[in-house]
Amino acid sequence: MTNSNLQLIDTHAHLYMDDFIENLDKVIEKAKENNVNKILMPNVDLNSVEPMLIISNRYANTCYHMLGLHPCYIEEDYKTTIKKILSNISSNTIAIGEIGIDLYHRNDNIKAQISALNIQCEFAQENKLPIVLHTRKSIEETINVIKNYKLTGVFHCFDGTYEQALKIIDLGFKIGIGGVITFKNSKLRDIISRISLKNLIIETDSPYLSPEPKRGKKNEPSNVKYVASKLSEVLSIPMENVCNVTSENAINLFDLH
Ligand SMILES: [Zn+2]
Repeated sequence: MTNSNLQLIDTHAHLYMDDFIENLDKVIEKAKENNVNKILMPNVDLNSVEPMLIISNRYANTCYHMLGLHPCYIEEDYKTTIKKILSNISSNTIAIGEIGIDLYHRNDNIKAQISALNIQCEFAQENKLPIVLHTRKSIEETINVIKNYKLTGVFHCFDGTYEQALKIIDLGFKIGIGGVITFKNSKLRDIISRISLKNLIIETDSPYLSPEPKRGKKNEPSNVKYVASKLSEVLSIPMENVCNVTSENAINLFDLH
């Protein structure tokens, strides 16, 4: 698929995780061979900030960073942790993320999760940055928080209902589509077939959630092409349009001009 007319953006890849760091040149070269010219990195906790910033500095104009505390990494002292993470903000920070609520892995600390989300939404609003949301079994709970702010962003790895997708679009947010859409029994294809391409961006969530036909293997940004080609099939829109429109959507949302 080396076609210079195509451009893809992987809007969600944890390039500082796993052993990516040891062969990052190769991973990025392979991404570029597959027309993935930009890779956006969400943060997870305080430890990930430094390696992530090293990557976004070394691969400027290819790898971009976000700042935020992921809901699965919330501990007692989350307020201090958030302050420390967000103190790294610079003109190169493209978003606050990933932030949100996760009721799949934990629901004993929902108050802290909601409080952390509010703190980070306020910060995003003050700094006029979009937010990247993680919403595992928590789309309604997350909507109830973000609707109180003037914000834009994306529901990353969306796996909700059609009605929820409409609510998200109504709030001015994008829907992030990843490998799940390629999975055999996914209901996501039916839902997304009724959504306009202008509301969608695509992602891998590397190193997790490899799309078919790479399911079960470690995910990497070059695989975002499988998400794009499944979208092309689901929406009956040519691959080239899917690539260009979703890239344009990401460029506008994250101000990557
Ligand atoms: Zn993630």
